[in-house]
Amino acid sequence: MSVLNANIEKLAGYLARFKETGILNRINGEDCAGAGGVFQSTTPVDKSVICDVARGTEADVDAAAKAAADAFPAWRDMPAAQRKKILLNVADAIEARAEEIALCECWDTGQTMRFMSKAALRGAENFRFFANQVTDARNGQNLPSPTLMNVTTRKPIGPVGVITPWNTPFMLSTWKIAPALAAGCTVVHKPAEDSPLSARLLVEIAEEAGLPKGVLNTVNGYGHDAGKRLTEHPAIKAIAFVGESRTGSIITKQGADTLKRMHLELGGKNPVVVFDDADLDRALDAVIFMIYSINGERCTSSSRLFIQDTIREEFEAKLVERVNNIKVGHPLDPATEIGPIVTQEHFNKVTSYFDIAKEDGATIAAGGVTVGDEGYFVRPTLFTGANNDMRIAREEIFGPVLTSIPFSTEEEALEMANDTQYGLAGYVWTNDLTRALRFTDQLEAGMIWVNAENVRHLPAPFGGVKSSGIGRDGGDWSFEFYMEQKHIGFATGQHKIMRLGA
Ligand code: NAD
Repeated sequence: MSVLNANIEKLAGYLARFKETGILNRINGEDCAGAGGVFQSTTPVDKSVICDVARGTEADVDAAAKAAADAFPAWRDMPAAQRKKILLNVADAIEARAEEIALCECWDTGQTMRFMSKAALRGAENFRFFANQVTDARNGQNLPSPTLMNVTTRKPIGPVGVITPWNTPFMLSTWKIAPALAAGCTVVHKPAEDSPLSARLLVEIAEEAGLPKGVLNTVNGYGHDAGKRLTEHPAIKAIAFVGESRTGSIITKQGADTLKRMHLELGGKNPVVVFDDADLDRALDAVIFMIYSINGERCTSSSRLFIQDTIREEFEAKLVERVNNIKVGHPLDPATEIGPIVTQEHFNKVTSYFDIAKEDGATIAAGGVTVGDEGYFVRPTLFTGANNDMRIAREEIFGPVLTSIPFSTEEEALEMANDTQYGLAGYVWTNDLTRALRFTDQLEAGMIWVNAENVRHLPAPFGGVKSSGIGRDGGDWSFEFYMEQKHIGFATGQHKIMRLGA
């Protein structure tokens, strides 16, 4: 049997129970139907229905928030070593079920096994990394002054809401939920309506690994009701959100009345700048990887290529050859490099840019076509002859679509790279160290890689500037978000107290 057929058979086994019961909400360790009935989850591979999903509304979020609030004191006060052990168990349990998670994720989202099998393991790594920080999470600073011993300590902020998108949903969810739990917070998770499967697996795995009931609750549903209520709920002290910039702005308003602390990881239109002194073979590999892997549905994808005019022709010719070679196909086939686009709506959006590019005067040098009509497949696409004012250079397409723009000088490249509302990531290819230092210092982005693709390092800060977000994840930055700083000053007896009425 081929690996593809074996994967299809295994997936059918994993999905059988969901087909029978649907995906239920999980509140206080119990399966719950949604107050809003059900909606259906479909696969972009062949547009068939996967299963029903409980549609959570206000009542479900209220119940989940209550469960998270009730579970909070015991989870907060649990000895750090015990909490660490539970979270390490979760990491092991994710690893043990990584194949199931990856297969379900691929079917739900159209992502390929090639990448999702790694993403599932990254989910385990997220738990392991933050579990190992638990014992230090409350550590503060000692800031002595001449008359006071000033110390700081940190306390978990309380129950928090985590709202996640449909792209690599398992990995992204663990990236938020693991540090929140490690900090001592309890969580209500609202996964994206288009990718509910792996969130269900996560809460199940976590409970089986020993997470007490009510510490992690999952409410499925739409953003405008379940999501909205979560951002407005008075018991929820903070919202960690990953999604579109426009939604980030909406939820900030929704959270204003309850003064919600917000961490926003939003969209991007990230530049990759290739100078003519770079190692061009490696640059070519990285440019291709950073826009066409994960179906291009990736916030840090390098969707704008700025290529120095002296090497443009040669570089674009090689790009076209490689892009035309990329294998589009069934996501459960290990040979597949690009699977289908996540939903009909998103497929329509991505493919609409084929006409937009032509109307704006760009050239479709590769791709620009759909593949069959069984699922939402598109050929990886390259636009050339573009400039930075075109819509294909300004709007986040969020698919396997690259816009190539020539530049002649470093100043011009910098100006165009920064001329965008976004500022998530940037990539620079040059062998001139001084130029790399100068350029990265002025590039407006939260994260920059020089002569490398995006390599996530968990202790490093992850996040964007401008419309790409507010706040950082990673290492201690995650705890800054999920915890409150508390200052305590102990008088050493020497300072003078102003005497009133003496
Ligand atoms: P989206 O903003 O449409 O939805 C994200 C989540 O928000 C979903 O769970 C949705 O139900 C919920 N939501 C929508 N409206 C809401 C509301 N009014 N109140 C509360 N919740 C609401 O985003 P998407 O289309 O699912 O994901 C793609 C976007 O995510 C892209 O823009 C991408 O760049 C971004 N993203 C950013 C990062 C990052 O790290 N910066 C990572 C991944 C994805």
